[in-house]
Amino acid sequence: MPTRPIVLYPDPVLLKPTLPVEDVDDDTRQLILDMTETMYAAPGIGLAANQVGATASVCIVDLSAGERSGELKVLVNPVVKAVEGSDVSEEGCLSFPEILLDVERPFRATIEALDENGRPITIEEEGLLARAMLHEIEHLDGKTFLRHISSVKREMVKRRIRKMMKTGDWVAAVDG
Ligand code: ZN
Repeated sequence: MPTRPIVLYPDPVLLKPTLPVEDVDDDTRQLILDMTETMYAAPGIGLAANQVGATASVCIVDLSAGERSGELKVLVNPVVKAVEGSDVSEEGCLSFPEILLDVERPFRATIEALDENGRPITIEEEGLLARAMLHEIEHLDGKTFLRHISSVKREMVKRRIRKMMKTGDWVAAVDG
């Protein structure tokens, strides 16, 4: 399971919606394996395919970052069917190293997707797991968590990123 380089903001691949997977085949499963390895190596608790430069609508979440088996959630072509409540919590993102933002999201979410074998699944979760899945599905839509903060705050974050890019400090946790 090789890791893949993590794409950092503002790479255009992060700002473009991904494409639905038409056939969950061995290539899709290889992508999922590589993404899992990459996320665990970072370590992180969620990763979307465009964060490793792929265009497929695939994301993964594991709140244990690989520490516990059975916690990995694989979502192919995920669709948010319902949300409920609201909650503010701090989020990080592997494409935004060292940036932490307070983000308001629904507390509960119902998500329909396909699993790694192409079987339909429905996941109803709340709290951090719902938050992590919604964060990753947002990536697949070509958006990032920057959209949840005020324009003033967003400019501050972008300025900080530009500064880090200049000094060579804007680097991915995992590099190939
Ligand atoms: Zn992210």
